Formats: sequence, structure tokens, C-alpha cells
Amino acid sequence: MPDPLPSVASTQSAGQLTGHRWPDGQRLRLRWRQGVIVAAELMPASRKNQREPWLAPALADLQVNGFAGVDFQQDNPDAESLRRAARGLQQAGCGRFLLTLITDDFPRLLERWRQLASLREADPCLQEAIAGWHIEGPFLSAEPGYHGAHAPQWMRDPQSADLESMRAMAGDTPTLLTLAPERTGAQEFIRAATRLGWRVSLGHTNASQAELTAAVASGATGFTHLGNACPQLLDRHDNILWRALNTPGLVAGLIPDGIHVSPALFRLIHRCRRPAQIYYTTDAMAAAGAPPGRYRLGALELEAGPDHVVRQPGRQNFAGSALEPLAGLQQAARMLGKPWRKIWASGSVVPARFMGWSWQLRPGRAARFCAIHEDAEGGLESVRLHCPQPA
Ligand SMILES: [Zn+2]
Repeated sequence: MPDPLPSVASTQSAGQLTGHRWPDGQRLRLRWRQGVIVAAELMPASRKNQREPWLAPALADLQVNGFAGVDFQQDNPDAESLRRAARGLQQAGCGRFLLTLITDDFPRLLERWRQLASLREADPCLQEAIAGWHIEGPFLSAEPGYHGAHAPQWMRDPQSADLESMRAMAGDTPTLLTLAPERTGAQEFIRAATRLGWRVSLGHTNASQAELTAAVASGATGFTHLGNACPQLLDRHDNILWRALNTPGLVAGLIPDGIHVSPALFRLIHRCRRPAQIYYTTDAMAAAGAPPGRYRLGALELEAGPDHVVRQPGRQNFAGSALEPLAGLQQAARMLGKPWRKIWASGSVVPARFMGWSWQLRPGRAARFCAIHEDAEGGLESVRLHCPQPA
């Protein structure tokens, strides 16, 4: 993994900054007040402006299970722990994320969600950082190799009453649901969830081609951490990876740490998917943004090594990651042999568009952006996240 970049989060509620607009390089002066952009003016360029920063939309991460030593899967979460995780993500260039809850006993999952939602509701800083929820489970495949770190005993088929219970927790907050479309009742559930404005992504699944195609027709638009949550050994002629890549209409999430998806497969997926169909996610757990050691992911105790790989002690399969958003983007650039500017969209614009969020640096929009200095080779030298700070 690349060394961590110097990166800081700014908490200025008002200010102005002039730099190169990403991606076209036009010189732009941004002014913001109370966390909202009030002016975005194009300025004449000159040679002495070369060292000004690039101004780009902040990174967005749609799958974060924990960060900075904080595990979101624990009962009785507290606001200070959530704020610590949010600050850690901001220091890694991430302006907003989906707090992700994984499979558990369904009533217990709902109760955890209720507690988190009330903490978020009471704290404007958490509302700013936690853009919404990603509920990954319990409607997943319990087949060996597909359930990953999720506990198969809590997996179940989705029912319409479940959606009502979940809706009560989500309220109007953006919500992404990952499910396995081969589950009985899943297609109707996808239709009902998308009618609520939720996004549905397929994952932890061994669905047939027909089931995947039907899920897209029902409203599914994503595939969660493509290349993971499947067995180590797959049928070379017909497997979930081929089927997912063969299904139009799915925006794929990739974990760009060079470990969850091999560099060769990472490059291949970029060749057969347009850039607008790929977003990067960390799938981070508590070990991300924290030193190597043992951390919890719900009921599991996991070990994060110095190599940033998170495993169940004594086992080989991965369970979440210790990846930080900015480090993931750097690693993706390295794997693809491309400058950061060419792939920044997969960490920022694509996930935002997928969720239907605005990302442009325009008047009236949130002042949530990164000021990026390049090194002499055009690589990332430093990244400073600016994000709205509620009064
Ligand atoms: Zn997963």
C-alpha cells in the first residue's frame, strides 16, 4: 500500500480558495459561507498560478462498517465514537459516507439502526458526515463462500413487513440495500424498496443470470464489492463474477486495495466497464485509520496485520478491510497506471451519482471539496478536505 498522504480536514465555515477546477483545469475561485458555496467564478490563468491546488469534489464512501477503532456493529453506540470515526474519514479525504450495518439477528439489527439514527438526528456534524445508511443483510446468500464474514444463521428471505420496519428507521435518509436476488421474495422487495427511493445493490449472491437480469428489471442498480463474497474456487465456465459482468445496468463497487481484487482483475474490470459504472469503496472496518491489532466487527474478533489485511485469526478469508479512502484511490491509480485526475471520479462523482447526490462545486451547493496539491510527477502530494461545518 502507498504511504499515507499528508491530509487534513478543514472546519472553516466560511472562506475562499482559488485553484484549478477538476477535471478541466480551468482557474476557479470558490467562496463559501456557512458551509454553502456562494460564488464559483472562473478566473484568468497565469504561469504564477501553477502551484495553486486542484479543487475537486470530496470522496464519498458507500460502505463503511467502522473506522478509527470504532465498530458500527456494536450495541449502544455513542456520539463521540461516531464523531471520531467521521473525523478519521474526513482526514482521509472522505466528505460523506454510508454507515453500513451488516447481517445480524433482524430485531437486533433494527434496534442498532434505531440507536444510530437517533444519535445522527441529534448531531448536525454527524448528519453532515453520515450521508445515509447501507444495510448489507440479512437477505443474503447463506451458501458457503458467498456469505463471507456475515453470520449465515441470521440470513432470511425478505418480506414486505421487513421493509416497513426498515423504513421506520431510515425515515427520509438516503438508504442503500444490498441483497441476494435469488432469495424468495427478493424481486418484489427490490421493486418496493426502489419505490421508496432507496438504492438496491446485489451482493453476497450466487444468483443465476436470469435472476440478476430480473433484479435489474425490478430496479437494482448496483453490485456490491464485485470480486468478493464468493468462493476462492469458481467454475471457470459459469460463476457469479462472469454473470455479474455480463449483466448490463449494474454500477460495480470495487475495493481498490490490490488485495480484495487482484491488480490484473482490477484492470480487466476497468476494461469491460465504463468509468461511470465503477465506484471505489473501502468496505472499511474498525481497523482502518487505526494501528495494526485486533478489532471487532460485530460478533467477530478480527486481526489487522501490518499489511492492512483483515482476517479472522488463523483463517485466510478477508473480513472487511483496513483501507482508507484516499489510500484506496492512490492504490487504484497505481494499479491502473493512471494519474489521480483520471480516476478521481470513481471515488467521488460516481458514488455520489449512484446515490442521487449533488457533487458539483456550484453556488447553492455544499462547500464539500478537496484541495489537492500535486507533486512534480503529477501524483498526489497533499489533500485537504473542506466540508460544511454546521453552526
Ligand atoms: Zn460484504
